[in-house]
Amino acid sequence: MMRPVYFVNGKGQYPLVKITEVKTYLMHAGRPGGWAARNWLFIRIYTDEGIYGVGEASGWPRVVQTAIQDLTPLLIGEDPFHIEKLWQKLYLAMMGHGMTGIVGSGALTGIDMALWDIKGKALNTPVWNLLGGKIRDRIWAYPHAHNAERAQELVDRGFTALKTGGVTGVVGKIDSIRKAVGPDIDLMVDAHGPPWLTTRDAIRLGKALEEYDLLFYEDPVAPEDIEATARVADAVDLPIAAGERHAHMYGVRQLIEREIIDVVQPDTGRAGGLLQMKKIAAMAEAHGIMMAPHSGSLGPVAAYACLHLLANLPNTLIMEHLEDDVPQRYEVVTPVPQVEDGHILVPDTPGLGVDIVEEAIAHYPAQGNVSPPNPDQEYVYIQSRRGRARWIKS
Ligand SMILES: [Mg+2]
Repeated sequence: MMRPVYFVNGKGQYPLVKITEVKTYLMHAGRPGGWAARNWLFIRIYTDEGIYGVGEASGWPRVVQTAIQDLTPLLIGEDPFHIEKLWQKLYLAMMGHGMTGIVGSGALTGIDMALWDIKGKALNTPVWNLLGGKIRDRIWAYPHAHNAERAQELVDRGFTALKTGGVTGVVGKIDSIRKAVGPDIDLMVDAHGPPWLTTRDAIRLGKALEEYDLLFYEDPVAPEDIEATARVADAVDLPIAAGERHAHMYGVRQLIEREIIDVVQPDTGRAGGLLQMKKIAAMAEAHGIMMAPHSGSLGPVAAYACLHLLANLPNTLIMEHLEDDVPQRYEVVTPVPQVEDGHILVPDTPGLGVDIVEEAIAHYPAQGNVSPPNPDQEYVYIQSRRGRARWIKS
């Protein structure tokens, strides 16, 4: 068993652990036929006690990598245990850049995550224990199903909740999935908040989906338009989910405080870190809103961090789970998370319970990280209006 190196003695003193180095690892994780421009960014923070922590940062990873490198001098020599203090120090250091949004938040996330990992390893306890202990030993999870055949395959593997996405033809898709898997499987639809979809069309789409009794209707409009999200929520009799594109607690504050949404989806890799996620979850809990963190852009380290958080929270709903989107997902970390009856097991090992495999990451050099616009999107809008939104039933 690892020796706990960090303790408070009878005089309230403790041996200092100091941060000595921060390393970043950027790799390609694009999905052919899907999000081809995706990269993942991992970090390691090293200490003078020989312990290092791992983290992951999303939110335009190539830019976030530069942000972390800029912030690194502010971390060297610091005590990694004081996560809140360091978060505030770095947040203030970015103030001169203005509202850094998801990039600044992504950088803070990767650093926060690695600090939690260090603390857990140093105290020889899982991160969920530091967050307040755990309520559950496994987390209900949902993968993505793009058609009825895939949905059935996932249900056969034990999953009891599935999400599908898009706008064009999504009603027909959810209809065929519901017919294939039956009434007992929970289904979700993610419209991905396309800026070309009008609020009225998002309402029309939501109304067409009402009969499928969804667990939630996600990002029906561009989530940065809070008033439009509120209009959809008022008009559609389905739980509304949003939050994946927002940075830290201020990003989702109005959505939560005005009770516009029913499910909040902060991204574990870019919402600001586990402390911010815990604060978001507390705000949500006070308003009867459930947590279903976003993972679509993330790699496997952030997924581990999410497990520790959701093990602790009273208002955990479900976790987004991608396991076979790209073959390298589980080549670049160890160990691989365990799935059982549609749930992911919460690790009991010290820290986050995961590490990156540097040699494997080196096989996937980072590529461009911006997707070209889909030329069909504007066309879909024009066609839908001229065709009286026929796409809803297509
Ligand atoms: Mg989404």
